[in-house]
Amino acid sequence: MSESTNTDVDVDVVIVGAGFAGMYQLVRMRRAGFSAVVLETADDVGGTWYWNRYPGARCDILTVDYSYSWDPELEQEWTWSERYATQPEILRYAQFVADKHDLRRDIRFNTRVESAEWNDDTNRWTIHTDKGADVTAKFYVMATGCLSMPKVPDIEGTDRFQGEVYFTNTWPHDGVDFTGKRVAVIGTGSSGIQSIPIIAEQADQLTVFQRTPNFSIPARNGPIDEQRLAEYRKDPAAYREEARHSGIGVPRTPPDVSALAVSDEERRDAYEAVWQRGELAFLQPYNDMGINAEANDTMRRFIHDKIRSIVDDPEVAELLCPTNHYFATKRPCLDTGYFQTFNLPHVRLVDLHAHPITTITETGIELSGKDGDESMEFDVIVFATGFDAMTGAIVGVDITGRDGLSLRDAWAHGPETYLGLMSVGFPNLFMITGPGSPSVLSNMMVSIEQHVDWITDTLEHLRATNAEAIEPTELAQAKWVQHSNDIANLTLLPTANSWYMGANIPGKPSVFLPYPGGVGAYREICDEVVDRDYLGFAISGPNGTRVNDGIIRQLKPDIAGLLAAMAELGLPPIESMSVEDARAFAEESGAMNPPGPDVGEVVDGTLPGADGAELEYRLYRPSTPGPHPLVAYFHGGGWVLGDHTSDDALCRDLCNQSGAVIVSVDYRHAPETRFPAAVDDGLAATTWIADHAEELGGIPGQLAVAGWSAGANVAAVTAQQAKLVGGPTIVGQMLLNPVTDCDFTRPSYIDNAEGYILTEGLMEWFWDHYCDPDDRTDPKASPLRADDLSGLPPAMIVTCQFDPLRDEGDAYADALAAAGVPVRHLQCEGQTHTSIGMVGVLVTGAYARAEMAEALQSFFGASVTSGV
Ligand code: FAD
Ligand code: NAP
Repeated sequence: MSESTNTDVDVDVVIVGAGFAGMYQLVRMRRAGFSAVVLETADDVGGTWYWNRYPGARCDILTVDYSYSWDPELEQEWTWSERYATQPEILRYAQFVADKHDLRRDIRFNTRVESAEWNDDTNRWTIHTDKGADVTAKFYVMATGCLSMPKVPDIEGTDRFQGEVYFTNTWPHDGVDFTGKRVAVIGTGSSGIQSIPIIAEQADQLTVFQRTPNFSIPARNGPIDEQRLAEYRKDPAAYREEARHSGIGVPRTPPDVSALAVSDEERRDAYEAVWQRGELAFLQPYNDMGINAEANDTMRRFIHDKIRSIVDDPEVAELLCPTNHYFATKRPCLDTGYFQTFNLPHVRLVDLHAHPITTITETGIELSGKDGDESMEFDVIVFATGFDAMTGAIVGVDITGRDGLSLRDAWAHGPETYLGLMSVGFPNLFMITGPGSPSVLSNMMVSIEQHVDWITDTLEHLRATNAEAIEPTELAQAKWVQHSNDIANLTLLPTANSWYMGANIPGKPSVFLPYPGGVGAYREICDEVVDRDYLGFAISGPNGTRVNDGIIRQLKPDIAGLLAAMAELGLPPIESMSVEDARAFAEESGAMNPPGPDVGEVVDGTLPGADGAELEYRLYRPSTPGPHPLVAYFHGGGWVLGDHTSDDALCRDLCNQSGAVIVSVDYRHAPETRFPAAVDDGLAATTWIADHAEELGGIPGQLAVAGWSAGANVAAVTAQQAKLVGGPTIVGQMLLNPVTDCDFTRPSYIDNAEGYILTEGLMEWFWDHYCDPDDRTDPKASPLRADDLSGLPPAMIVTCQFDPLRDEGDAYADALAAAGVPVRHLQCEGQTHTSIGMVGVLVTGAYARAEMAEALQSFFGASVTSGV
């Protein structure tokens, strides 16, 4: 577009940015019949590849993968010359696409967007540019890039330097000649690592200032591997489709073996293959490198050895070994001769931890250090210091949404989006690869196309339904942020001070920015949102606003992963088995779980139950000096399965965290002995423990009952019976997912009837084995039905969202509270009947166990300390 077109204009869609995202968005808008204009600061298309012209700039995803897929002709017309094309070649590709599709006529170049406001009366955005002309539009798409806002230099004295200064991310178009010059490069991320070897070839002296060493493997660039190309050429459409449903946007079967499950030799071979292959998508040959520190460390050590074998000077080699973050928790680099560069006599590495920069002067850089200050003279300083990533370009525009809400204010504590696509308070504003989407954790080409397609489909839907505006709901957005954080917290990613966490920008909130759940899983979520009639969005039109509030992913990600893995095994339902088989199955499954944490002491014994029965127990003693308060604990298993050892890990965890002795008691099981044997045993065992408190190392009078599931039913009934028969004294009851009633009609039974391990069918099977239908309403079977709940011990009740027993547990908490019993009631979102107790397997329930332990401590008074 020429300068003469730089006048006010009103369009359907304004797109900011003419990189790969903005270009494709423009294509889709045209094809869908929307009028659209693109605003771009640069004087041509290409975005990243327009700006980052530093020597050595290339892509780090094979270019066969890092290509548009939306134009099948283009795939025939363009052939990449190398595995990793150079910046000029990728820029030429962008220009070729712009020419072919005549994109420039709708792009206003040399135009920076400065601010934008939403008008609630007209349902339109007004975009203000540095050219003075405004654009009004119904829809506003930020295609401004994740790595497009250069980091502002934060080194004192930067402005003073009188020599040449260059930034890798805004490199001069005519190139830079370093011949005969003394050059400083600050920064050793991907840009530094790519440019340093080439600058070293020209410069007279090169000094590299390194704050954090990075992981890098050889790119092994060259002609595109024929076999790799053949995979693509066999069926390009199928190849691209596979990429769309993959983890990072490159076709690959995910590994299913742990790095710790193979021999050292096998692992070394696998890592050597990674080193030889030189592809980011294949960096992790084992399935736990991203989540398990020990597994990750095997790769970390392998790369350290490689660096030591390449770099001649052992001290320099050590400085180049990354030790303060796990492998791939920062984006790893692909290099061409990076580590070898430090063997050249005119190249020096400065470790900024040992020698921090005090200031940049007119002529060079001054350092401090334990051996004194040092002043270094330079002709050129190159800043390879990176970007204000993911949010910088978005909040770089002063955006004002509904009711004067500023996006900068709304995101002051970190970006909040729904799906990384939209943000509450900013109707009709879309972000391409925004924070909260896979974006920088993927082959961006795949992620860009997915977002553009989703946005386009949505605009078409809005047009077809006469809608004026779309905006996410508060709930959907908050839960999306939580879901994304939940996944990140299962990984090692947040442990690094990376730009993924905003850690490279002083003062930027520490939030994990991209969505780490994978490209394919994310795509499914976005599609499901649409299929469920734009779940989590409010859509308004002439007939008012329709709010389809809801949460797209409620189950915690570790539980979802476990359930998916179990579904793949195709196990028969327990309720279809004989009791014997079911017990054997439960025992086998339990044995697969990792052992619980160590406690001070474990003692096995027997105690008398009701009706002359002898009951086994296992006692867990904290490592702190005793005596300790006591907890009579009853295991889960529907009165049919399990024994005093089956909740071992949970008992250990409770013992350590609460500082109490946990006595896990077996009780007689159905169908051999039916109701009320189990609960009678519960009272008998609790009475015996109270009577033998001192012998057991406990504090007399400080006894609580606890249990999980049917065991929580035994504990609750024990507390009621103790009240009725006048003892023993019970100071508290801790009930995890308790069975409190025999009614199967509550919503939680209906909503969670299938799919979360404890099914409605299994509960029926349990009840049938345990108790005659006529007896089930007896409060000794259904404690919720007791006439009088007053005077019972204080209770902690934990219920889980995806548990058929949720509502009866909640009802018991409410009924106890109504009867004047002090109740602490924890309702766990996204958890299932079995998840809280899975110590060492699932991590998202850990907070609930901590609260349970705290509740036990509160039953015993403040004197108790944790046993860890
Ligand atoms: P960009 O290409 O960043 O384009 C955004 C455009 O918006 C820019 O042209 C910018 O000028 C414009 N803009 C921003 N704000 C405004 C404003 N206020 N007003 C007007 N215009 C504005 N990803 C990969 O997947 N594989 C790779 O190999 C890879 N290599 C990379 C190498 C480098 C050196 C860098 C920096 C990034 C790399 N990336 C890579 C990420 C890369 O950014 C994306 O792959 C992709 O190019 C992003 O395209 P985009 O259109 O979303 O954003
Ligand atoms: P980067 O990864 O953020 O690296 C910036 C470097 O500058 C880091 O070493 C950083 O140290 C250092 N630094 C920043 N501020 C500093 C200061 N005040 N003093 C000293 N050192 C300082 O940025 P980048 O290299 O431009 O890469 C950003 C991303 O762009 C990459 O992760 C990648 O996604 C993409 N990229 C890809 C390629 C490719 O190969 N295709 C090439 C370039 C970029 P700390 O680590 O200590 O903060």
